[in-house]
Amino acid sequence: MERGVVVPHDYHIHTRFSCDGQQSMEEVCERALALGIPEICFTEHADYTPGDPCSFHFKPDAYFQALNQVREQYGDRLLIRAGAEMGESHRFPYETEILMDEYPFDYIIGSLHWVGDEFIFAREYFERHGKHDAYQKYFEELLVMVRVGGFDVVGHFDVAKRYGYDVCGPFDPHDHEEIIREVLNACVEVGIGLEVNTSTLRRPVNEPSPSLTILRWYRELGGEIVTLGSDAHELAHVGYALEDMVELVQAAGFKHVTQFVDRQAEFIPLS
Ligand SMILES: [Zn+2]
Ligand SMILES: [Zn+2]
Repeated sequence: MERGVVVPHDYHIHTRFSCDGQQSMEEVCERALALGIPEICFTEHADYTPGDPCSFHFKPDAYFQALNQVREQYGDRLLIRAGAEMGESHRFPYETEILMDEYPFDYIIGSLHWVGDEFIFAREYFERHGKHDAYQKYFEELLVMVRVGGFDVVGHFDVAKRYGYDVCGPFDPHDHEEIIREVLNACVEVGIGLEVNTSTLRRPVNEPSPSLTILRWYRELGGEIVTLGSDAHELAHVGYALEDMVELVQAAGFKHVTQFVDRQAEFIPLS
């Protein structure tokens, strides 16, 4: 905040409604207020892939009950959005549709944590396929997920690098430029945005997901929708490095981030 950068929102936060979340909604609200972040979105894991640690864990009724409580408690000071992080939504169109139709979500992240039946947050995925094929397969599956759609932004666009870095060293998007541009084009065509996720900044790979290069390509191709998310699973990570991400999206050519209400996008100018 000393730099005069205003963080408009944190649009990727997990609580105990996610299998791996450590914090309550109330604790997150208090933390956001303390940090001066005016808008947050609780994006719990909605996973259905067999073998995923969060598979079938999400309980939307209990989630919305808790959400309504914190909206009552903090709604005059904090904008609180209802969200979900759908895993591999293209493989679970029925579950995705039911969830979207029956509950009043504001914002849906589409994330890929699995390529086929292989978990990408595992060394074996990269050891089995080698660096080039591991990333190529990830982006090919991401392309299918985007084409099927049903969500608002792609979560952590190049997150395969989180473990890829540990096994194969730095990830260079230029090595996969063709398929990445194809995914970005598909996003632009159907109005799907990108989130800028800072969880990878807390890992040895030490760069946001996606990095500036991919954000620039998305902008060049006509992409307009960007959001910022810490992907916090614990309180200390709420708002993590989002001031830097405001500067990053500006460097990529964006003059705004996007707010979602009832799945409708609104641009919020960056100061
Ligand atoms: Zn994720
Ligand atoms: Zn997440």
